[in-house]
Amino acid sequence: RSNSLKQPHNSKRTPCFSQLVELFESLATERKQETKKKILNHWFAKWRNDVGNDIFPLLRLLLPHIDKHRPALGLQEANISKLYIKLFGVKAQSDDATRLRNWTVPTDDNKIAGDFAALLHDFVKKRSSVTEGVLTIKEVNDLLDDLANAKGAEFIQLEIFKRIFHETTPREQKWIVRIILKHMSISVLETSVLEVFHPDAQAIYDVTSDLRYVAWRLYDPTFRATDTDKDLRIGWAFKPMLSTSFKTIEESVTRMTENDPVDKDLQFFIEEKIDGERMQIHVLNGQYLYYSSYTHLYGRDSQTGSLTPHLANAFKGDINSLILDGEMVAIDKETGQVLPFGTLKETNSSVKVFDMLFINGRSLLGEPLSKRKREMCMTLKEVPGRVEFVPEFRGRTVEDVRTRLAQVMADRGEGLVLKHSRSTYIPNGRNHDWIKVKPEYMDGMADTFDLLVVAGNYGRGKRGGQISTLLCAVKQDGSERYSSFVRVGTGLKFEEYERITKMPSWKPRGPNGLPDWLQTTKQNDGHHFSLTLRFPRAVKIRDDRNKDDCWTAADVLRYSDSGK
Ligand code: ATP
Repeated sequence: RSNSLKQPHNSKRTPCFSQLVELFESLATERKQETKKKILNHWFAKWRNDVGNDIFPLLRLLLPHIDKHRPALGLQEANISKLYIKLFGVKAQSDDATRLRNWTVPTDDNKIAGDFAALLHDFVKKRSSVTEGVLTIKEVNDLLDDLANAKGAEFIQLEIFKRIFHETTPREQKWIVRIILKHMSISVLETSVLEVFHPDAQAIYDVTSDLRYVAWRLYDPTFRATDTDKDLRIGWAFKPMLSTSFKTIEESVTRMTENDPVDKDLQFFIEEKIDGERMQIHVLNGQYLYYSSYTHLYGRDSQTGSLTPHLANAFKGDINSLILDGEMVAIDKETGQVLPFGTLKETNSSVKVFDMLFINGRSLLGEPLSKRKREMCMTLKEVPGRVEFVPEFRGRTVEDVRTRLAQVMADRGEGLVLKHSRSTYIPNGRNHDWIKVKPEYMDGMADTFDLLVVAGNYGRGKRGGQISTLLCAVKQDGSERYSSFVRVGTGLKFEEYERITKMPSWKPRGPNGLPDWLQTTKQNDGHHFSLTLRFPRAVKIRDDRNKDDCWTAADVLRYSDSGK
């Protein structure tokens, strides 16, 4: 990575963490975005004035979810509960310990289910006598670094939490836990924080994904970013371009074509929407960098990793620098078919490339898509099963899109992405130049299954304390038992979930676990039945049916064999 920056100077100590907690509290209670921005603006100005130019210590606590300069803490609600329960020697069976452990489940005396930090606050308040915290913002950051460095060692974590307990108030601990969980509940968009910090912050963040770089490059509010600042650079993950969606194919096509009234015949690209993992690949002088959540799998240079040697073979000429955008998928070696999302392993990865954004020292961001694609085909050749171009067509009409969608659906594909031929590439952009088209848009094409709702899961955050997904089952043939089959969380209105949970048959899960008639599996996300559904959507609660009208295992197998 080139381009490293000097750290701006702070001449004074960072403020007390308790003051920052006041800011968090006021952001959390204030409803208007505009007022939130004013409050933030005031804070940044005061920091610049009183503390100095390095605002990163503050920004990383406001936006912990995008701070990459601290290694993962490896602490979720469950292990934080465990640490606090240990710290106080609370009996595992006690009400307090149970409440913390079952933090998602609402009970009569627990109205704040789903908000772990708030529950923990109550737990700590009963035990703490600290009324004034003594830690500064810097010290809290240092403690978080210590937690990261503990690398999961419980005795070190316990020491750190002991210190947090003695040196901060219960309210401050609530916020420290929110920072650790990277879930702040202050309802301030990341974009708003960046925008208030500096007018160019978002643009630089979109091409670097590096909050510290943004904070240091733009410490001076009077400085304006250059074009180079806003361009891609090799070795820095950018925020990929995204797509919009509309309700119908007709509207999608109208939106796609309304931008070029001059050229009535201009065709747009119709690409298959691949169900994999978004992946950007950077190449510099034989070094390969892959950015996605599974980064480590694919190897850094042409000798290692499973994909890199194939990619090196896909180059048509000499390439010293390159950036590609695409989708990483898992391929079944026997059949050559794309496997369902989540089955990606080192040995079966394959990349479907759909864009090229940088080649031999030249950024292509500002070039139209048709030109980027042309250059891409001149630069790369396909290596079957390993490096391929996303299936792509040209079209102009609703009929063109329908035809392609029907094809994709016949192959059980995920849908299409329409792309304007003249569109430039906008990092993190979501405009009408890329429009996704889903199979549901084809009237009456989606199939429905009648299933039995057997359980619900409590949501977290906004849906905290409420059922947010339903577990559905199929009936086992010739038996009164049901097998878990699919979990569905979209499609129904909130009131419908409420209605289900108020039905007389809806009961809390007792101490004896599940009833005999329901079979599930202990595997995460797995189901008792051997098949499940991808992209399920609940259409309706069928009050006109009873439990015996549910599809049986044989019904589902018959459906699956029919190849629909
Ligand atoms: P979704 O959950 O529908 O994938 P999303 O919110 O992740 O949506 P969108 O911008 O709505 O993101 O959809 C674009 C996503 O679709 C990309 O992030 C990418 O992972 C995926 N994708 C698959 N095939 C393509 C393609 N040919 N062109 C662009 N994106 C594609």
